Amino acid sequence: MGIQSKRTKTKTRRYTRDVDQSKSDLLSPRHLQQFKDTKSPEDLPGLGRHYCVQCSRWFDTEFSLTTHNKGKPHKRRVKDLLNPYTHKEADAAGGLTWTDNGPSSKTKAQDMELDMTS
Ligand SMILES: [Zn+2]
Repeated sequence: MGIQSKRTKTKTRRYTRDVDQSKSDLLSPRHLQQFKDTKSPEDLPGLGRHYCVQCSRWFDTEFSLTTHNKGKPHKRRVKDLLNPYTHKEADAAGGLTWTDNGPSSKTKAQDMELDMTS
């Protein structure tokens, strides 16, 4: 039993909390504690003592956590948390865009008439 597809297995193994969830963790300690309560400390690396809130990852030692804090993936995640995607950007990524073609042709025609009369 279990997951048959290797691709699905690697995708779910690498899954961490989403950016909005991590942001809620940073804003509310209660939200973070609720998430941590779902995990058993015996199952976590380093008995769950070294946790990076931004990346939602546990580490074995304090040293590996400080090394992680200096690394590129952590800095990238912090940047994502500071500048989250807007709804407009998400729609554009999904192909739901609209283009601004300037004022409608009707107003342009009225402007031309005004120019001709003056
Ligand atoms: Zn991190």
